[in-house]
Amino acid sequence: MSEKGPDQQKKDVELGMNREITRRDFLNGVAMGTGAALLGSSLGASQLLAAGALDEYAPEKSLDYYPPARMGMRGNHDGSFRVAHRMRDGASADSLGEPLRTGETYDLVVVGGGISGLAAAYRFRQKTGKAARILILDNHDDFGGHAKRNEFQAGGRMVLSYGGTQSIESPGRYSAEARALLEEIGIETKKFYKAYDTKLYANRGTAAFFDKETFGEDRLITGMNTTPWPDFLAKAPLSDAVKKDIARVYTEKVDYLPGLSREQKIATLSKISYADYLTKHCKLVPEALPFFQTFTHDLFCVGIESVPSYLCYEAGDDYGSFTYPGFAGLGLPEHEKEEPYIFHFPDGNASIARLLVSSLIPEAVPGTSMEDVVTARANYAKLDDAANPVRLRLNSTVVNVQHVGAKDSAKEVEVSYMRGGKQNVVKGKYCVLACYNVMIPYICPELPEAQKESLAYLVKAPLVYTHVALRNWTSFDKLGIRQIVAPGGYHTYTTLDFPVSLGKYEFPSKPEEPAVLFMLRTPCKPGLPVRDQNRAGRYELMQTPYSTFERKIREQLARMLGGAEFDPARDIEGITVNRWAHGYAFTPFGLDLPDWKRGEEPWVLGRKPFGRIGIANSDSGASAYTDAAIDQAYRAVGEILAAHS
Ligand SMILES: Cc1cc2nc3c(=O)[nH]c(=O)nc-3n(C[C@H](O)[C@H](O)[C@H](O)COP(=O)(O)OP(=O)(O)OC[C@H]3O[C@@H](n4cnc5c(N)ncnc54)[C@H](O)[C@@H]3O)c2cc1C
Repeated sequence: MSEKGPDQQKKDVELGMNREITRRDFLNGVAMGTGAALLGSSLGASQLLAAGALDEYAPEKSLDYYPPARMGMRGNHDGSFRVAHRMRDGASADSLGEPLRTGETYDLVVVGGGISGLAAAYRFRQKTGKAARILILDNHDDFGGHAKRNEFQAGGRMVLSYGGTQSIESPGRYSAEARALLEEIGIETKKFYKAYDTKLYANRGTAAFFDKETFGEDRLITGMNTTPWPDFLAKAPLSDAVKKDIARVYTEKVDYLPGLSREQKIATLSKISYADYLTKHCKLVPEALPFFQTFTHDLFCVGIESVPSYLCYEAGDDYGSFTYPGFAGLGLPEHEKEEPYIFHFPDGNASIARLLVSSLIPEAVPGTSMEDVVTARANYAKLDDAANPVRLRLNSTVVNVQHVGAKDSAKEVEVSYMRGGKQNVVKGKYCVLACYNVMIPYICPELPEAQKESLAYLVKAPLVYTHVALRNWTSFDKLGIRQIVAPGGYHTYTTLDFPVSLGKYEFPSKPEEPAVLFMLRTPCKPGLPVRDQNRAGRYELMQTPYSTFERKIREQLARMLGGAEFDPARDIEGITVNRWAHGYAFTPFGLDLPDWKRGEEPWVLGRKPFGRIGIANSDSGASAYTDAAIDQAYRAVGEILAAHS
């Protein structure tokens, strides 16, 4: 018998909680069977095993192994972190099972199959030759790290979206090496000027959703950032004093830091949170702060009480949805004109990861151009093939990395990883750790203690990129909007996907067509230091089952869009919750940071090469961007090769 009361059961039916489409997460991280029906081969499993084409646990060889189409809880999906968390909780590699020496030897073993790990493999091959034998290991069921692909079937067609890394941001600012890599794998950023439809949403604006838990009443108000603020706020469930004050800070052009030089203003803004700046300098009534509280979540994963106001000034209105008032009268320099935010593949930067894999293992991702990669179906059975010099092994968590013999004279590094419950050991002449830097102290015990401490400092910020496939987007069309800011919502920002058509992929540009919605959630705990907020947010994420997410998503969409005939039970065709418990790389922006000497920052000390082991990942650049992942990979490869040439 159901434990739910009749009211809850009725509500669940109205929300569509009974619909089958969202239940596919049971497959996440679970072995899907091996056997003779694999690889389309006439060989039996034992012959495949003997041929090295199949190990006992080889879900990737199954014909239906296709992670981009999995829905439910993705990102750091169930199963991917079980081993890592055992190590965090004190298990040593030795305690995880008898190591099996596979006899495999490589020129390079890379830990982490994100953009940094893939770029490290790419660079190593560029420097040492195409015959270089490389193994890339990753604990997830798909490659790309944060740069993952989400694929949906909705309205009888495929609609694409991104699981994490969204766009190539400001490619003009990429280092020469990172830019060259993009070009070498076939990406011409100028093509996005044509691929991105800048007209589609031109007349569709932003709405704000005021929720009853925070503002006393549910109300969706359109025209944010386009209607004059007093008129826009007139309909908001806010007191007259609050409405008046928010409109004031948005419209008056006052120097709130009078008597200070430009440099002094910048210094002041850098030392004070945006919340304090609004209340102490702009004299905003504190009751108005909930409207702004989560504006900073998208970029910083914490609220306005933790973000220096200078960074809000710098963010300006680049994203068109969160505009930060209070700076117009300060006389600070105009913002440098950024490149437009249009460098977006339909599956985000997963296309970069897929093009990198295509260049390393051509059979695994067919096609060579930035156009044909968009619709290419990756063949996961080919990722780890003994016949190829480069192999990518998924579902494999590295638990130990150690020089064979003394670090300074060693010729090889042993790398142990858990896969299918067993511990395997391979050897490499070199190893690049392109994994989460905080994991390195657990898997590389021979590192000096001070270096381990530096690595452990680099706590990542948690965030959730939820994608919801809709039967159509007529409700958005009726409201004349493309996005909704929901300052108190479970998901604080919702938007229609980027309108990009590339190669054979056509963006669903008619409201009657299916669409993918993006929803952002960044759990944190205001009042704590930033890294503790990140830890608390991660804890919350790990405690929240998919069913809670699903109910919250359906409820919120119904509450926001119900007035425009949106029906969650009818209109939702798929949900993917990309849970990045370990999300953005640690970035030094908080107001509580130590005053490190240049060169002694934890990410700089942490990334020092150690014998034949190099350290990459965007963490080691303290920058949550794709170019950092590439730059750090190139540095790490350069360092280990230079030391041993
Ligand atoms: C939600 C989100 C959105 C983003 N959007 C953008 C954007 O729009 N533009 C942009 O430029 N940047 C963006 N970033 C940042 C960007 O994703 C990263 O800088 C970059 O992709 C990180 O690549 P990486 O290889 O360094 O790390 P990751 O992508 O994290 O890859 C590291 C891999 O190593 C694996 N690993 C960890 N430990 C082990 C182990 N012990 N054994 C095996 N494998 C292990 C991890 O699971 C992971 O798969 C975003 C990040 C997130 C989280």
